[in-house]
Amino acid sequence: MSAAAYKIIDHTYDAVVVGAGGSGLRATMGIAESGLKTACITKVFPTRSHTVAAQGGIAASLGNNSPDHWSWHMYDTVKGSDWLGDQDAIEYLCREAPQAVYELEHAGVPFSRNEDGTIYQRPFGGHMQNMGEGPPVQRTCAAADRTGHAMLHALYQQSLKYDADFYVEYFALDLIMENGACRGVIALCMEDGSIHRFRAHQVVLATGGYGRCYFSATSAHTCTGDGNAMVLRAGLPLQDMEFVQFHPTGIYGAGVLITEGARGEGGYLTNKEGERFMERYAPSAKDLASRDVVSRSMAMEMREGRGVGDHGDYIYLHLDHIDPKVLAERLPGITETGKIFAGVDLTRQPLPVTPTVHYNMGGIPTNYHGEVVRLKDGDPDSVVPGLFAVGEAACVSVHGANRLGSNSLIDLVVFGRATGLRIKDIQKPNAPHNPLPKGSEELALSRLDGFRNAAGGSPTAKLRTEMQRTMQKHCAVFRDSALLTEGVAKMEQIYAGMQDVSVKDRSLIWNTDLVETLELDNLMAQASVTIKAAENRKESRGAHMHEDFPERDDANWMKHTLTTFEGWGGKGGTVAIDYRPVHDYTMTDDIDYIKPKKRVY
Ligand SMILES: Cc1cc2nc3c(=O)[nH]c(=O)nc-3n(C[C@H](O)[C@H](O)[C@H](O)COP(=O)(O)OP(=O)(O)OC[C@H]3O[C@@H](n4cnc5c(N)ncnc54)[C@H](O)[C@@H]3O)c2cc1C
Repeated sequence: MSAAAYKIIDHTYDAVVVGAGGSGLRATMGIAESGLKTACITKVFPTRSHTVAAQGGIAASLGNNSPDHWSWHMYDTVKGSDWLGDQDAIEYLCREAPQAVYELEHAGVPFSRNEDGTIYQRPFGGHMQNMGEGPPVQRTCAAADRTGHAMLHALYQQSLKYDADFYVEYFALDLIMENGACRGVIALCMEDGSIHRFRAHQVVLATGGYGRCYFSATSAHTCTGDGNAMVLRAGLPLQDMEFVQFHPTGIYGAGVLITEGARGEGGYLTNKEGERFMERYAPSAKDLASRDVVSRSMAMEMREGRGVGDHGDYIYLHLDHIDPKVLAERLPGITETGKIFAGVDLTRQPLPVTPTVHYNMGGIPTNYHGEVVRLKDGDPDSVVPGLFAVGEAACVSVHGANRLGSNSLIDLVVFGRATGLRIKDIQKPNAPHNPLPKGSEELALSRLDGFRNAAGGSPTAKLRTEMQRTMQKHCAVFRDSALLTEGVAKMEQIYAGMQDVSVKDRSLIWNTDLVETLELDNLMAQASVTIKAAENRKESRGAHMHEDFPERDDANWMKHTLTTFEGWGGKGGTVAIDYRPVHDYTMTDDIDYIKPKKRVY
């Protein structure tokens, strides 16, 4: 069947949001509220988006449980980012955070409470008082250990109040681009196989992270970075893709997350000798140092033969000293998770954990209004008309080389809201649309049709496992030139295997074989740019620990990596690299640029 034979159903909107996680729903609400005709397209039911799994909480300097100030939050975020974050955007995030949390409170999020009725806040890694001087601050607002669940349900309920149309279980395939501007998006309705062309003045990508490039990840199987890949196919760059966060406490084997809130509530790590080794690596913050530091320390312990278990390949997380009443009240979800996925009773036994892929700092470059930016005619901040990105898919960049725990949920709502505000400013309701360019569906449909009829000898699952194992081995917590060079070569070879992919189901009705293959193709491109960018960065910064270049090198490397990708369908897969400067200025005169320092905890 040729691409021309597919029946296309047309829709016209002022704005279309792709993704219904925390960031997509917050953007949808804001846009719809301003009277614009809005659609939200999502491949899973909104409340099944990965945001639902967020446990520990959302950071904002409310100062309910200890003194706090937005500038302290900003300092910690800049330091956490290892000075790769853009400080104007970080100022925006931290200043807007308290208001964003109160907004969620009013939207119905059932936050845990202090006795005086204020929102309860817990300590989290890397969050300190007094511009990094310490002691740790209690900044992370939580609804027990089900914060994302509570947030997503509240946001979904609220978004129904506004007049947005939801297209649920629609899989977005590709952007419609014309002369460097975004004009809409093409999607597949998974239920009946119909093709939908959405013409829109503004398109917002809120498609989440791409953790599933790796073998062991805390993220959902749906976290395949589809929006990132659409951006690559549009010839636009992704930013800072080499920075992949490993969460210190994924359950050994299962990969399921145990929130950092567990350490926030007093949990600690030990090696096989029963030693609290974090005291050696981070004498002041200890188990609450930032995630890259704790993950590396754990990996070091295991490498030096002090890991627990027959293979010495995990570490113990202790919560057994905490009052069971406190566990039941503040960490009920992980108590259950420990039982189900590790067979451990947390109140009595330590839990086997290991660093597990958790978050993508890199993504689609944007400014703090959510507008996608690119390098054009020497301007590193040139806006791509009609295109926005928010949430984990975006790289604003507030997390730089390493994200602090509880700074993602706040990123979702602050920049989801900012995107709504920007679109309200620049877009009049019901403005006339130009006709779409001829062949606007061509890119999406020829790719869909190609995979639908793929008759090679390699099942999708086989190629996926090869990619995931390669990334897990060659692009993990510790990296070096030999591992990375070999990894790049392996990824090129595995990517070429896409030419031999086989899809057995030829129908268009709920064809999971086809959808998983489209997702795999998206993952492959992201794995390729990630490992290539990692191989290219000859320094160590945040989550990127390069053992042949163990120091941070600000003179040469304090810059964002931009990667583009060419040669799809396993044919070529060339990655090109460029750079954008890090914003070395703040948003207002209220605070000065925070100068780089050595990062110790
Ligand atoms: C287990 C876990 C716990 C976490 N805990 C915390 C925490 O306590 N605090 C914190 O700050 N952060 C936490 N994080 C990180 C944070 O939850 C995520 O970064 C964040 O929720 C991502 O939200 P999002 O809106 O960007 O995307 P997601 O919530 O991932 O949603 C993506 C949306 O895009 C849609 N989509 C994707 N591709 C397509 C497509 N092709 N077509 C149509 N729709 C598509 C999906 O249907 C979905 O609706 C945690 C992450 C994990 C994995």
